[in-house]
Amino acid sequence: MARKDSIKKLQQVLIVRRDALRKALAGDLSMLKSLPEQTGGDVVDAALDAAQDEISSQLAEVESRELAQIETALEQIRQGTYGLCEICQGKIPLARLNALPYASTCISCQRTAETGVNLRGEWNRLGDVSYTDLETS
Ligand SMILES: [Zn+2]
Repeated sequence: MARKDSIKKLQQVLIVRRDALRKALAGDLSMLKSLPEQTGGDVVDAALDAAQDEISSQLAEVESRELAQIETALEQIRQGTYGLCEICQGKIPLARLNALPYASTCISCQRTAETGVNLRGEWNRLGDVSYTDLETS
């Protein structure tokens, strides 16, 4: 498959993922907004809700960060600079883009810049969309 076509597919993957993240984040926000009515001054409920808020705000932080990376990748697709390593300007192999659609560096530059954070692991942990299914549909 031509690289251009593969990038088109990755664009679809990124859009689906972006929309899912946006929905999740919007859901978190509406949940926070409706809190005062739900709790009605009950102290125990308020404490439980506060704990849930803490968890969802941490999740929202991770989701917001991923969303920003996806927005950047989509912008790069529009500008035709997607899939180029931002450090060495070389083409990022499709295998890497398939594993991490918003990768902004090639593997060798990534290794050089590696600080112990496993980006691919993070993507997999957050990813609940099956890209294999998307390929065939
Ligand atoms: Zn590079």
